[in-house]
Amino acid sequence: MTDIQAAYYTGNKTFSIETKSSIDPGDDEVEINVAFCGICGTDLHVYLGHMDARIGDHRVIGHEMSGVVNAVGKNVSNVAVGDHVVVRPLDACGQCAACERGHQHICQNLDFLGLDTDGAFQEKWTVPSHTLHKLPTSLPLEHAALIEPTAVACHDVKRGRVQSGDDVLVIGGGPIGMLVAMAAKQAGGNVTVSEINTHRLAMAEKLGIGTLNPSEVDAAKTVLENTNGKGADVVFEVSGTQPGVDLMTAAVATRGRIVMVAIHATKPEVDLFQFFWKEIEMLGARVYEPEDYDEAIKLVASGDIDAKTLITGIQSLSEIGDAFAELSSNPTAMKTLIKCSDVTA
Ligand SMILES: [Zn+2]
Ligand SMILES: [Zn+2]
Repeated sequence: MTDIQAAYYTGNKTFSIETKSSIDPGDDEVEINVAFCGICGTDLHVYLGHMDARIGDHRVIGHEMSGVVNAVGKNVSNVAVGDHVVVRPLDACGQCAACERGHQHICQNLDFLGLDTDGAFQEKWTVPSHTLHKLPTSLPLEHAALIEPTAVACHDVKRGRVQSGDDVLVIGGGPIGMLVAMAAKQAGGNVTVSEINTHRLAMAEKLGIGTLNPSEVDAAKTVLENTNGKGADVVFEVSGTQPGVDLMTAAVATRGRIVMVAIHATKPEVDLFQFFWKEIEMLGARVYEPEDYDEAIKLVASGDIDAKTLITGIQSLSEIGDAFAELSSNPTAMKTLIKCSDVTA
């Protein structure tokens, strides 16, 4: 046990940096020196007070992390001290109907580490060893902080069964939309992102992804024109907006697939007539399975996912309040990382 610094969310857009004791790993646990932890859309929801009922007002959040193993419990054999790792922050019960069917990632009693338990915005983090994935040491730890959201994207693309030559429309160009677009491109898709923020459109173009701006053109008409009247084979709804939901059914091809990625704050209105006329398939997608992490590590390590371009800021743990304020107000910000400790290797 040593004294460490931790950033606690304390309600109403505030964090308090507190000194606490690190937690020695139990028999099946691992203590990690946290290197970097990205700010997720979910963390922003916490910051804005939308999730106080779930997490309370004294919680260390953060889960998009990378780090180096500092200590392991006596039963741990999958990692060793000094290994570079990321955490798949899901702790399933192993006993519910979903778990018994092999769907541990959508366990009915799922604990999400960094929301339901303390997370990674601290110098050291102790977690169950089954959550860890090892990284190649050639992969910079700051880029590795993008593996968790990339795994979300890999899961979404797998659910959408994107194949080489598919026309793909991604509605919403935030960090997850951008990663879905890049993962779909790697799967061989011809990808277009629909987004109204011009900074994000410029970044998509820099990443070699097609763009359209629905505040300037009729988005559905543009998709149909660009695909000779066919529409998109796969559509990802990542915007969480009603216009996005209207576009997904209007722009999808016959027998096309729609993947619902965004969490909508209210029940959206979905045009079910289009499901009948076009024999559309709709697929839900939530978090990730272990193989999505393996795929994400491969894509980030190879540079096929351009982590460097997506990271628009890195701030220290003591600046976490400013980092959240900036990310929620600055339209040019994409992904901000918090440097949680000085660990490098
Ligand atoms: Zn996340
Ligand atoms: Zn379960």
